[in-house]
Amino acid sequence: MASSCIFCKIIKGQIPSMKIFESDKTLAFLDIGPLSKGHSLIIPKYHGAKLHDIPDDQLAEVLSVTKKIAIAQGIQDYNVLQNNGRIAHQEVDHVHFHLIPKPNESEGLGIIWQTQDADKGALSKLLEDIKSKM
Ligand code: 5GP
Ligand code: ZN
Repeated sequence: MASSCIFCKIIKGQIPSMKIFESDKTLAFLDIGPLSKGHSLIIPKYHGAKLHDIPDDQLAEVLSVTKKIAIAQGIQDYNVLQNNGRIAHQEVDHVHFHLIPKPNESEGLGIIWQTQDADKGALSKLLEDIKSKM
């Protein structure tokens, strides 16, 4: 827990939230600034800013809870988003997964997907580099 963290405060009940699900390791609640109706946040209770800061066992439940909420909402089109770092649009430094319903073109997550040309040789070299460090 971090005393200045807004999501830790939500976990501790010091800030109100609209809770969808809670267990010993996971909390899910409605986003206060939704991109679409039902936009929710699923968080590990363990405090850490980025995905790689969170121990595996603290993350284990997050995806299944996300799936449960999607099923409960009856949504067919949606995005699951998890931002790490300011430049990657992270505003709250406590790991959180967004579940964002995409009911139509104008609501929900808007994505600019700018692909780059990929050189096969460079990709192969990169692949070997990553694999060697796994
Ligand atoms: P980020 O840009 O860090 O991935 O997303 C942070 C999200 O947290 C935003 O969608 C924002 O609306 C939400 N948020 C920030 N403060 C609060 C809060 O106090 N309560 C709730 N429910 N959501 C919050
Ligand atoms: Zn926190």
